[in-house]
Amino acid sequence: EAAAQAAAADADSGAPTIFDKIIAKEIPSTIVYEDEKVLAFRDISPQAPVHVLVIPKFRDGLTQLGKAEARHEEILGHLLYAAKIVAEKEGILDGFRVVINSGPTACQSVYHLHLHVLGGRQMKWPPG
Ligand code: ADP
Repeated sequence: EAAAQAAAADADSGAPTIFDKIIAKEIPSTIVYEDEKVLAFRDISPQAPVHVLVIPKFRDGLTQLGKAEARHEEILGHLLYAAKIVAEKEGILDGFRVVINSGPTACQSVYHLHLHVLGGRQMKWPPG
């Protein structure tokens, strides 16, 4: 239907996203961890007691994991290590999940690469 088509057309246009405004602190977020390269903040629609998003501060074309190139190797590793730091700070190191939705088929809705860090409850497998 029309709304779905509009959403598909908007998918990965390369345009700035709401996360740019969060990085610029133009819209509020609850920051859990921050360094020079990444920002971690609470998801506005949490799917678990702990649900934090970890994003690169400089998107550099990395709208989705499926667009990653060799130059992104370092930031990808940095993001994953930041996810561990977040899990430690949130007290869920005993068990947590890290998710990256890449592309419309995976239900990615914000085209600025982000890792979901989820925990604080028993997780199920497989995900939907
Ligand atoms: P999905 O929306 O299907 O979870 P994504 O993997 O693209 O797809 O996740 C985007 C996430 O960003 C969602 O979990 C959503 O709740 C979150 N989000 C959107 N806007 C904000 C915001 N302003 N502050 C915090 N989280 C947000």
